[in-house]
Amino acid sequence: MPLFQNATFHISAHKLSELPPPSGIEVAFAGRSNAGKSSALNTLANHNRLAFVSKQPGRTQLINFFSLGNDRFLVDLPGYGYAKVPEAMRKHWQLTLATYLSQRPCIGGLVLVMDCRHPLTPLDRQMLDWYSPSGKPIHVLLTKSDKLSRQAANQTLQQVRKELEANWGNCSVQLFSSLKKQGVEEAEAAIGRWLFAPEDEVPDTVA
Ligand code: GDP
Repeated sequence: MPLFQNATFHISAHKLSELPPPSGIEVAFAGRSNAGKSSALNTLANHNRLAFVSKQPGRTQLINFFSLGNDRFLVDLPGYGYAKVPEAMRKHWQLTLATYLSQRPCIGGLVLVMDCRHPLTPLDRQMLDWYSPSGKPIHVLLTKSDKLSRQAANQTLQQVRKELEANWGNCSVQLFSSLKKQGVEEAEAAIGRWLFAPEDEVPDTVA
């Protein structure tokens, strides 16, 4: 059974003051608008519309929490880098993202979603610069891998891995396709490690 199949919508926050009090462990999903973040969340949760797959990139300006039970959460952050967003809104969201990521104690790790055809954009690098010093793990999903040949996708994977190793610590990376449901188990394993300690797997019924 997929690890995140029981994910349910929990709460939306428009601003930092609306965030639920920190508790348990949450994994944040960030990425450039249109990179495929909502689709990846839906695929991992085995849901069609858990995270709204946006027709208007950049418009989903909310921090959405999805509960996995047991005080574990997946957090969908607003996509960044959408050109048509007014400057004031862009600034507001950059500050909100930076503050959320730097001050939220219960973040277990960051999933950074990138379109495998355009990985490591300047804003992706900025995000890595911000977050890597926290020492918390970062897992990069190179999405839409079905859009590249197997060889080109693997080349991209190696290149991105090399750059991550050279410039930022504590990063892992993989190929992912929501369309073809590829890379789901690998992503579950990487993210699941941050959320569920081995003792969580002991069934409740054991006396
Ligand atoms: P978000 O803005 O990062 O949340 O991106 P979305 O999940 O809304 O996806 C943006 C566009 O990319 C949509 O048209 C999706 O159908 C498409 N898309 C997302 N993931 C994939 C994928 O794995 N393969 C392909 N071919 N298209 C995808």
